[in-house]
Amino acid sequence: MMRFLADAMLGSVARKLRIFGFDTLYVPDTSDNEILRLAAEQGRIILTADKELFKRMMKRGAQGVLVDGASDLDDMAHIFEKLGISADLSRMGSRCTSCNGALAQKRPDEVGGLVPATVLARHEGFWQCADCQKVYWDGGHLGRIRAFARTLEDRLADSSSTSSSSSSSKG
Ligand SMILES: [Zn+2]
Repeated sequence: MMRFLADAMLGSVARKLRIFGFDTLYVPDTSDNEILRLAAEQGRIILTADKELFKRMMKRGAQGVLVDGASDLDDMAHIFEKLGISADLSRMGSRCTSCNGALAQKRPDEVGGLVPATVLARHEGFWQCADCQKVYWDGGHLGRIRAFARTLEDRLADSSSTSSSSSSSKG
């Protein structure tokens, strides 16, 4: 599974990639040299909106995608398209959006006291981050993310039907 490193401008894209289950390191306040070093060391694909950094990456043979940085949806569609990733929801909810830690599914009785009683009463699916202990539940936030994922899927389907000739050189 692909692993990513998102630079300072792409915090929101990093969180969305984590929601899809991708191991995504977010490094605000990090020099370009350090970004290049970390990515090489950890085998991560660099995501950046910085053209200068992208040029340096290409020179060094680092793997990366240059995005526009203006819209999460556009950026995600571009990244998924470039790397041939589908908007697959099967790994959704496997990674913490806050810290990139791994999430484990929990029973309601295991997260009692950690979430409001009304949430506990209304939901059955819970996940907890092994690193920062944050608790997630189905519905609400995850519901909005599912909607985002569907929009992204539609976008990918549209662009693959209109620009199929440009991707046929692959392989
Ligand atoms: Zn966490």
